[in-house]
Amino acid sequence: MSTVNGGISYWYANEGIPDPREPLPGDATADVCIVGGGYTGLWTAYYLKKAVPFLNITVLEARFCGYGASGRNGGWLYNGIAGRDRYAKLHGHDAAVRLQQAMNDTVTEVINTAAAENIDADIHHGGVLEVAYTPAQLSRLKHFHAAEIAFGEKERTLHGARETAGRIRVTGAVGSTWTPHGARLHPVKLLKGLAAAVESLGVAIHESTPVTEIKPKHAVTPYGTVRAPYILRCTEGFTAGLKGQRRTWLPMNSSMIVTDPLPASVWETIGWEGRETLGDMAHAYMYAQRTADDRIALGGRGVPYRYGSRTDNDGRTQPATIEALREILTRFFPTTAGIPIAHAWSGVLGVPRDWCSTVALDRSTGIGWAGGYVGSGVATANLAARTLRDLIQQDSGQGGPTDLTALPWVNHKVRKWEPEPFRWLGVQAMYAAYRTADRREATGRTTETDPIAKTANRVAGRN
Ligand SMILES: Cc1cc2nc3c(=O)[nH]c(=O)nc-3n(C[C@H](O)[C@H](O)[C@H](O)COP(=O)(O)OP(=O)(O)OC[C@H]3O[C@@H](n4cnc5c(N)ncnc54)[C@H](O)[C@@H]3O)c2cc1C
Repeated sequence: MSTVNGGISYWYANEGIPDPREPLPGDATADVCIVGGGYTGLWTAYYLKKAVPFLNITVLEARFCGYGASGRNGGWLYNGIAGRDRYAKLHGHDAAVRLQQAMNDTVTEVINTAAAENIDADIHHGGVLEVAYTPAQLSRLKHFHAAEIAFGEKERTLHGARETAGRIRVTGAVGSTWTPHGARLHPVKLLKGLAAAVESLGVAIHESTPVTEIKPKHAVTPYGTVRAPYILRCTEGFTAGLKGQRRTWLPMNSSMIVTDPLPASVWETIGWEGRETLGDMAHAYMYAQRTADDRIALGGRGVPYRYGSRTDNDGRTQPATIEALREILTRFFPTTAGIPIAHAWSGVLGVPRDWCSTVALDRSTGIGWAGGYVGSGVATANLAARTLRDLIQQDSGQGGPTDLTALPWVNHKVRKWEPEPFRWLGVQAMYAAYRTADRREATGRTTETDPIAKTANRVAGRN
């Protein structure tokens, strides 16, 4: 059987593309207009409408809800947030600990809200296991583990090779760290359930309605303009397509493969009974989950960035990327070697110049935004949504500052990316450096992070 390539994602192939919702019929008004129907946009509509049921909220989606990363991701609902360490430097350790705590709580919030809304998203609360398989990765893992504990992750545990194999038998794994603050889920089941919940609350969702420009109190589309005091930009990796936003967030690619269901005999060689989400400590890292239907879904970086901030064609990825991901899969789990790859796809995530996620409301224009999650958006989008709710309530005089509006990522400003060709050259060089560093570390000759990766991190503005 040949591998399906694209078609948005395996999750959509598995769940079916939903019937399209009506486009915007013409000019309209709303209290809040949300641009983008991914997790950020839909969670924001959900929490706003729950807080203020009479609010008139319109969601405008270019294709269909979940067309972007929210319908294509690895299904890691976990407590990582891009930028925490920089926020610690900018606002102090305690502020970053509060941010981390809020992320820990967000994992529980998503699980509980999905249950309350009867959304069956195949959620399994098995935590996150990150493994090391070279001496350099092991020292990074120990450093990472200690840092997470310092940021208040008290329940995190560190494991040696034997304990790691007791959970998941990754070939050559020399250690791992596990946190309970993570769960595996089916991204599209969550997305579809959330969209249905939002609609049943009375939010208008218009699909096939691309917004061409966001101006204060206006979201402009080919079919009409929505006028609203608040316009929220929730377009993450697609943001560069909006007028005036080309250099705001870089659309970084991530690609995934999913196997056919593995037979019980193969699962016996792997373990993975706890269904933890699985990652590693490589610079060009991988992420994986054991799906509810007993497949392995595994992702990583293929071609990291397309020149001129272009995005993919409905999730199609390069054959070389599929091969590279298959190699990781069989290196980790040699007994999967003969198992067909059922589906491969890619998607884009938003990367700010300083690699820090943000949520913001410009009180002078009423324009808000959230994103730049750098690949950790499944849970972060929910925290962003509750924060946007609080910021709007505060601005409209219906509430005051809250614990969420006081978090250090709120209203953070970041400089723009360099123009092309420097943007493209920079990202290519960075990932070439990461791959070289991974290869050199794989020789096992060093217990330290390769200097090439350290330099790449510094030049990229990641630390
Ligand atoms: C392959 C892959 C794997 C990932 N794995 C994980 C993971 O396991 N865990 C994790 O935490 N994060 C992961 N991420 C990141 C995570 O999926 C995203 O951060 C998150 O889904 C972002 O949600 P969002 O709603 O902000 O953006 P999106 O889901 O991208 O939604 C943006 C929406 O806006 C719409 N849109 C764009 N432009 C316009 C416009 N002009 N007008 C109207 N609508 C527009 C798009 O069609 C899209 O539906 C992954 C990302 C990818 C690509």
